Amino acid sequence: MSKRTRKQKDETRLAHAGRDPSRQHGFVNTPIYRGSTVIFPTAAALEANDQDFTYGRLGTPTVRALEEAIAEIEGGHRTLLAPSGLSAIAASLLAFVRAGDEVLVVDSVYRPARRFCDNLLKRLDVTPIYYDPLIAEGIGRLITKKTRVVFTESPGSQTFEVQDLPAISKVAHAAGAVVILDNTWATPLYFKPFAHGADVSIQAATKYIGGHADIMLGSITTTEKTSAAVAKTHEDLGLCVGPEDVYLGLRGLRSLGVRLTHHQKSAFELARWLSERPEVARVIYPALPGDPGHALWKRDFTGASGLFSIVLKPVSHERLAAMLDDLSLFGMGYSWGGFESLILPFDPSDYRTATNWKAEGPALRLHVGLEDVEDLKADLDAGFGRLAARA
Ligand SMILES: *Cc1c(COP(=O)(O)O)cnc(C)c1O
Repeated sequence: MSKRTRKQKDETRLAHAGRDPSRQHGFVNTPIYRGSTVIFPTAAALEANDQDFTYGRLGTPTVRALEEAIAEIEGGHRTLLAPSGLSAIAASLLAFVRAGDEVLVVDSVYRPARRFCDNLLKRLDVTPIYYDPLIAEGIGRLITKKTRVVFTESPGSQTFEVQDLPAISKVAHAAGAVVILDNTWATPLYFKPFAHGADVSIQAATKYIGGHADIMLGSITTTEKTSAAVAKTHEDLGLCVGPEDVYLGLRGLRSLGVRLTHHQKSAFELARWLSERPEVARVIYPALPGDPGHALWKRDFTGASGLFSIVLKPVSHERLAAMLDDLSLFGMGYSWGGFESLILPFDPSDYRTATNWKAEGPALRLHVGLEDVEDLKADLDAGFGRLAARA
């Protein structure tokens, strides 16, 4: 649709992808189309059923605009939208499995995705087998004749292990398995899924694509080869997204580049500052030299987003609560990727099964928002004061 040139930078494409003013009376943006019924002009057209739009659930011009834009930025063949990141994960897994199959799932996977595998997939007689995120080509040892999918998420949720996606994909493809990647952390700007071996790439567009903590949205981007299977399951499940959220997804996408630049800069600055604090045992952020995933991150990624974790030195529950309760800029709550900073305690030791989470003290996940970084430091510095005050 858009007159794109391959050589254009992502930031340029973000401004133009999926957009055609000549189809909208010259207006810059594709408006919000609301609709279920689409009228066919003739009985022959109805019978042929091959016009661009046939029914609201199957897409509107607003939906198509966002799908085209994400597909272009992610470097995929086609994108389909889903009502949440989790539904995008569920649909893409369901697209490839049959009763009796096994799926290999990274141990550091987003926890609700793990629940989907342990509950719904198991009920369908599909067995999830969890693997160490650092397994690389060792994944071959877990592949059997029943392996249909290798599910990856890099870096991992909460603990940010960077996976060797090219190595995993090579082994998976040799065995005929499909590689699905949850690419939410890096976004399509900082990691190109298909250039590194993924067959399907998922975005929780709720996070950075939306960017303003005001929508729920997911996307599934496929290669030419995986596109038909995903499209069929997506249609069978009846997945569609409300027009307002689709529009806000498009709106968020336009500024993804500049927002991420700021998130990255502040996160790096804050991560470095935190790594020198006496209260902090370690910082887990692949962009930091010295992080266990730094070399792989540097090889495969072109940037880091604003989400990372820290492990504190041992401290009581009460002192930690005193720190967290009175933070004024860092909010406590789920999700991330909005303009605002967030902080969240976590402990994955209860639900990881292929790896052991060992931590010196309590762990905190931080999302570094668009606030001034010195103000963020001051907020945390005051928090560390409260952490120590009750000792
Ligand atoms: C938040 C998140 C999801 C799920 O997205 P929702 O839109 O909340 O369903 C999936 N994967 C990752 C890595 C996430 O952080």
